[in-house]
Amino acid sequence: MAFYDRYSLMGTSFCVPSTPHLANQGSDEPHLLLWNEWLAARLNIPLEKQDAGQLLSGQTVLEGASPVALAYSGHQFGHFNPTLGDGRAHLIGSFDDALGNSFDLQLKGSGATAFSRGGDGLCALGPAVREFVMSQAMRALGVPTTDCLAVVATGQQVYRNTMLPGAVVCRVASSHIRVGSFQYLALHQDIDGLHKLMEMAIARYYPHITEQGDERVLAFLKVVCEQQITLMIHWLRVGFIHGVMNTDNTLVGGETIDYGPCAMLESFSFEQVFSSIDKQGRYAFGQQPQIASWNCARLAESLIGLMEAEESQAVTQLSDVLTVFSHSFNKQYQAMWASKLGILAWQEEDNALLSELLSTMKANQLDYTNTFAALTNSLLEHPMACFSIPETLNAWYQKWLRRIAEFERNLVLQTMQSANPTLIPRNGLMEQVIADYYKEGKSDLLTQWLPLLNDPYKYQELAAFYTTSSDNEDNYQTFCGT
Ligand code: AMP
Ligand code: MG
Repeated sequence: MAFYDRYSLMGTSFCVPSTPHLANQGSDEPHLLLWNEWLAARLNIPLEKQDAGQLLSGQTVLEGASPVALAYSGHQFGHFNPTLGDGRAHLIGSFDDALGNSFDLQLKGSGATAFSRGGDGLCALGPAVREFVMSQAMRALGVPTTDCLAVVATGQQVYRNTMLPGAVVCRVASSHIRVGSFQYLALHQDIDGLHKLMEMAIARYYPHITEQGDERVLAFLKVVCEQQITLMIHWLRVGFIHGVMNTDNTLVGGETIDYGPCAMLESFSFEQVFSSIDKQGRYAFGQQPQIASWNCARLAESLIGLMEAEESQAVTQLSDVLTVFSHSFNKQYQAMWASKLGILAWQEEDNALLSELLSTMKANQLDYTNTFAALTNSLLEHPMACFSIPETLNAWYQKWLRRIAEFERNLVLQTMQSANPTLIPRNGLMEQVIADYYKEGKSDLLTQWLPLLNDPYKYQELAAFYTTSSDNEDNYQTFCGT
């Protein structure tokens, strides 16, 4: 198998040899539950489906692989934790796709490591299924994301207040270089390590950076900020709430990682929070861009040691990059609403039109996805019956129709269709799928739902079942580290 180890040059304190070691204490043999055929084919992954149940179960070591656990630090809910690291994940190795781009293959839930800090190193089946479905849906929605190749039932039980079947998630990511990885090296004043990691990230994601010296560091920070802005715009556009935007869950490549306590926005509110531990709403839907900016500031701090300029000057230069964040974000934020509303040339007055829409949506608890799908649908030659303009929006709708009449209708429609999905991985359905897996080890619902989730911009007649907001949204909660 063509796996190689790209992190070992970082040294054994950053990249700790660590073997998956689930003892099969259960009565069942490990077996494959979910497999992402499309991903396997697209990335030319050197594994066959028929071997996956065995090879990705955490109970065997893949031939030719030298698994490791990576060290990282992280700000969790604003508090710095110096030693996090892969506490329940093993990086099996890296491989190249047909174009020569490198990817990591990682198992999660594959046993304790040097970083487990008393945790069991395991993963219950439910969160594993969530990661598989959510990451696939996000990719189809056009959001940068890590992917999930497979979910394997381990046959072992995991204790989470009660006994649950255990699972191993096989994640594929373009790298696992986190803001927290830089924080770890900075904390240990490992300047050589910081250099190596920055160069690894530049080579993987940003080979266009040709600057040298301090300019190189600044260019790197700038491009990471830009990628975070792009990611935040996508999350806002589709209504994704990550739930645990700690710096260890922030990749410098700008992809979504860790689908633990995530959920989708249904009734519109910028304040929406689902995570049980996010008591202050730090990671609320509308707070996410601010947090991404805050996380980039933590990266900036970690890069100070790489700057040759005298410290106060280095701090000023790095801070200047960060101040560009809000300006650049605001521009893209406006462009996002413009595309969701089909307003092809945004004017100052459009801000009032948008504010009125959002406050009406909030006051009437309108569904975020369905509202924008309904606006888009209303412009189709043969609108679908499954999306209709809510009565409470009628007055606003007339104003909006007058505004978009200023543009070419086909262009408006095209723009809106590509910005506004009809289908998202709704929270209630996600829970039903997870319940199916706990009960039966399979889900007929998922079999029907997954093809729809993979085509989320298709304006087609959809059963209300797939488009209705969850009934008990007010009480819906998600959980970390499960
Ligand atoms: P997460 O919230 O999944 O990003 O995890 C935060 C940190 O806790 C990471 O260092 C994880 O490796 C660690 N962690 C989460 N769950 C477990 C577990 N069951 N056993 C050991 N470490 C864990
Ligand atoms: Mg994490």
